[in-house]
Amino acid sequence: MAHALSRQDVGRLDQAAISALRMSLRGALLQPADPGYGEARSIWNAMIAKRPALIARVSGAADVIACVNFAREHGVPLSIRGGGHNVAGTALCEDGLMIDMSLRRGVRVDPARRLVRVEGGAVWGDVDHETLPFGLVVPSGIVSATGVAGFTMGGGFGWTSRKFGYAADSLSSVDIVTAGGELRRASESENADLFWALRGGGGNFGAVTSFEFKAHPHGPRALCGMVVHPMAQARLVMQKFRQITAAAPDELCCLLILRRAPAAAYLPKEVHGQPIAAIAACWTGDPAGGRDAVAPLKSFDKPLADTIGVKPFVEHQTMLDAGQPFGRRYYWKSHYFDDIGDGLIDAMAEHAGRIISPHSAALLMHLGGAPKGVDPALNAVGLRSATYVLNIQAAWESAQEDDRQIAWAREYWSQTRPFSTGSAYINFMTEDEGEARVRAAYDERVFARLREVKRRFDPDNLFHGAQNIPPR
Ligand SMILES: Cc1cc2nc3c(=O)[nH]c(=O)nc-3n(C[C@H](O)[C@H](O)[C@H](O)COP(=O)(O)OP(=O)(O)OC[C@H]3O[C@@H](n4cnc5c(N)ncnc54)[C@H](O)[C@@H]3O)c2cc1C
Repeated sequence: MAHALSRQDVGRLDQAAISALRMSLRGALLQPADPGYGEARSIWNAMIAKRPALIARVSGAADVIACVNFAREHGVPLSIRGGGHNVAGTALCEDGLMIDMSLRRGVRVDPARRLVRVEGGAVWGDVDHETLPFGLVVPSGIVSATGVAGFTMGGGFGWTSRKFGYAADSLSSVDIVTAGGELRRASESENADLFWALRGGGGNFGAVTSFEFKAHPHGPRALCGMVVHPMAQARLVMQKFRQITAAAPDELCCLLILRRAPAAAYLPKEVHGQPIAAIAACWTGDPAGGRDAVAPLKSFDKPLADTIGVKPFVEHQTMLDAGQPFGRRYYWKSHYFDDIGDGLIDAMAEHAGRIISPHSAALLMHLGGAPKGVDPALNAVGLRSATYVLNIQAAWESAQEDDRQIAWAREYWSQTRPFSTGSAYINFMTEDEGEARVRAAYDERVFARLREVKRRFDPDNLFHGAQNIPPR
């Protein structure tokens, strides 16, 4: 592995080398004292304290090549920022060089061929904005500020995934700068092994300057929304969630949300701040065809609110944005489940009832559907067989609260662990999840193949900042 320099080393790095890098870039190269450094360093999770010695706000592939060569030749730790949403803060490195893609957010749609080219720093809101007017989507997540890059390379699922698969499954090619500083195209027909690994293996293989996706017909209007009940009904809501998801066609995706109610206009004022149990749902298909499928969601007990109806899909895609702003402190723990037993319902309801932050939540998403039928050899997307994923999301404002909030998430995780499959999702991992957890995200053969591809394209582990796959 390349020798990593300390902050002092970087400080002593030949100023001439830093100046030469600066001169070779079209984008800005920022050091901690420079105006704009703080803004460029900021990511979604304020818990992450790492400070890069250099931030390159790259303007394109030539800048990226210069940065990769600089990091390799000088033994400087390297990281890459896409949307800056990774909860582990892997976009940042301590004392190294961060390639900041966040100014590269261009999206170009070819509606006739249903292809979408997306630059390496775009977020899903950028993609939706360009594709939805043509009635097209690429499977994205449930918050529009999430970066396309990290999301897709880790797999990436959201509202339309039960119908159209993971984001990685819709990828048709990437342009990537690998550790040697070469710009390569990876697709089914060029660098096919690299292409296989990039779809699920995370940011371990290079710096992607652009992605090309196959888009799918959906929207611009869709049948979607949320029903909200008081937390006192959590068990009933979870039983209904279990029953409805067990019978759901691939077009229907449901997400259970246990949290305190936000101050949202669709909720009565007296409910704001009160614990709630909600089911958000999206029908991926002709809205008229989904009415019967969503009817059971709308017809039990007396909801505090019911927003399920036909609306612009973008409204649904951004519905949860306000609850996940940049700059809060976040700590996540997650599990996969094959099914929802009564024990899991009891454990989830009990811990959700003890939520101590107005911002924290437990989210249980229905997976399965089309991705289950995909040949697992297609790409390196981790385990496709689970039916549900639970994400326990602690979120709070003050550093003094850290221990208490982290303890809530860990305890919730421990209590629900007996019901889980034991596997993991790399895109939901926090900073403190170890090597064993990364391994748990993959089938043994997939992990071995990922290590082999890593050996070929990055033998010195230059791209080690993401949940790391060490070279074989
Ligand atoms: C609020 C929120 C909602 C989310 N919802 C979902 C969801 O619905 N479904 C889901 O599957 N996941 C979801 N996630 C998880 C998300 O997939 C990961 O956080 C993902 O890492 C975010 O990608 P990013 O580009 O924003 O990450 P960043 O923090 O920018 O980067 C993370 C890592 O990705 C790699 N990377 C980033 N850009 C590049 C690039 N251009 N080239 C090469 N490597 C790069 C780097 O290794 C980097 O360390 C959510 C996250 C958040 C915070």
